[in-house]
Amino acid sequence: MDELELLTHADALGRRYTEGHGQRRVFPSDEAIAALRVFDEPLPEQGWPAENTLALLDDVGSFATTASNGPRYFGFVIGAALPAAAAAERLMLAWDQCASTFDNSPVSATLERVAARWVLETLDLPRESAVGFGTSATACTLAALAAARRELLARLGWDFDGQGLHGAPEIRVVISELAHITVKKALRVLGFGLNRIVYAPVDAHGRVDAVHLPPLDERTILCLQAGEVNTGAFDPFGQIIPQARTVGAWVHVDGAFGLWARASSLSHLTQGIEQADSWTTDAHKWLNTPYDCAMIICRDARALSQAMNSDAVYSSASADAQKNLTLEFSRRPRGIPVWAALRSLGREGVAELVERHCAQARRIGDGLTRAGFEVLNTVTLNQVLFRCATDAQTLAVRAAMQQSGEVWFGGTIWQGRPAMRISVSSWRTEDADVDVLLALLARKLNAQRIATA
Ligand SMILES: *Cc1c(COP(=O)(O)O)cnc(C)c1O
Repeated sequence: MDELELLTHADALGRRYTEGHGQRRVFPSDEAIAALRVFDEPLPEQGWPAENTLALLDDVGSFATTASNGPRYFGFVIGAALPAAAAAERLMLAWDQCASTFDNSPVSATLERVAARWVLETLDLPRESAVGFGTSATACTLAALAAARRELLARLGWDFDGQGLHGAPEIRVVISELAHITVKKALRVLGFGLNRIVYAPVDAHGRVDAVHLPPLDERTILCLQAGEVNTGAFDPFGQIIPQARTVGAWVHVDGAFGLWARASSLSHLTQGIEQADSWTTDAHKWLNTPYDCAMIICRDARALSQAMNSDAVYSSASADAQKNLTLEFSRRPRGIPVWAALRSLGREGVAELVERHCAQARRIGDGLTRAGFEVLNTVTLNQVLFRCATDAQTLAVRAAMQQSGEVWFGGTIWQGRPAMRISVSSWRTEDADVDVLLALLARKLNAQRIATA
């Protein structure tokens, strides 16, 4: 096959895979997983023809995927890929741009600038903010916290770039007891030291308790969150951020998925969030772009572009070049799928997507209560946290659901006991899919009750 035949064939296989959404097992069968053994071959001395490699990938690989791009995947907060974003990504692949600077790719720099403006408008965040399009909320949080520390130290007269941390004033970090593991990872990697972090206590819903907030000052980075992974809860930004600002602390918000509530009729949940200094959010979760795509948004554009600067004599660029806003130097134009998603949905489409998922989550919460499950969170966002009467039943029902291949969701530990968590975040999920989920859960619960009676 020549190059064009091969790409046409790959497109056809991709189309066939996409056509199968809804029919495919949501988690692969044991046989499909066992078949992955064939990939464990020695590194070939001579290369295979490309069509052979593609055939192997489809014949074995396609059957061992999780159908997270389908309608009945309710695990984590994964999101599917919107057609406009997936199509843009396909064209981008043909372009193969290194989107570091305007010089490297004028079209990428232009579209990422537009995408940045649209993201700030959609999320209604300060329009002067810098927006870097990175690989993940993890990487973007790392960039945000690096910028935050550098800036707080600069205000104290410390030259972080020159002196590093040797002899520097200590910057304290206060995070929610329920901060996401990747926020802790970013802090650990940056050398903050997990044992030196101060934890802010949370209430029964998983929100930072504004009354028992640890002391803050101009040497503190405070990390809040929009959308706790179990409950979907939002910290009380309106109560906390003004206090933090008054004393000169830096406030960072992890809004990996929850920040998108701000683009909908649920925006009251995020009230006050716009007063923070930096935010991270994913596009690959709730905005339904393909992986991997996330954003660091920083009110003080200069603080971010100085922290992330990578200008060199052979490669200097404007402060808002993406290589000066993210960890990457070479990268593909991750902002383009964001641009395509926002252009295809429009403001109304983003709001509708978020509102539909939240309504479906409420429908799931109500259905679970009727079926005899205990719903553990107040379902306000797209997350439903629930369990059975006994831990053994919870674990058995979860395993039975996962093995069914009809739907998939994961487990967690909530207040010391096993629980199950359902997240609605795929544009493909319809109410009928929610009903399939509820009917199956009711059947599995009854089967467990009979088995243990
Ligand atoms: C998923 C998630 C993250 C990490 O995002 P990645 O894009 O997977 O790195 C951080 N915080 C929250 C609340 C999340 O749900």
